[in-house]
Amino acid sequence: MRASTEKAFHRAWGYLLLGFVGFAWFGLTLDPSVMAALSGLAVVYMMFQAPMWCCAENRDGTYCRKNSYGLLRGCSIRQHKWQKIKMAADNSSWSKLCRRVFAGIGGQSAVIGALAASVSALAAVVQLVVT
Ligand SMILES: [Zn+2]
Repeated sequence: MRASTEKAFHRAWGYLLLGFVGFAWFGLTLDPSVMAALSGLAVVYMMFQAPMWCCAENRDGTYCRKNSYGLLRGCSIRQHKWQKIKMAADNSSWSKLCRRVFAGIGGQSAVIGALAASVSALAAVVQLVVT
């Protein structure tokens, strides 16, 4: 029981962190640099660790449904890894990548999480610069 709770925590810590950041914006007064760091960490989680489908394109035009972690990482198939890295490196492919991942299990929360974390990080940086 404990072990599985721990495992779940290891898989979902980024979401918990994001929840904490959201709470901190309204309920706590943390230093903007701390907020920026925590938000940045949440972005990294969504990019590399959030559990979701791979969603790389298969040869037959369907999307891969193997489990993978993070918006930027593919599943165990090497070609899929490259495909996602290439899409991420190309700015114009970002929306395509997001739309594709969005249709899969785990993808929606990761895309929304990544957006929320980026906005939060940006807001913290702005606060740092302004004050
Ligand atoms: Zn794949």
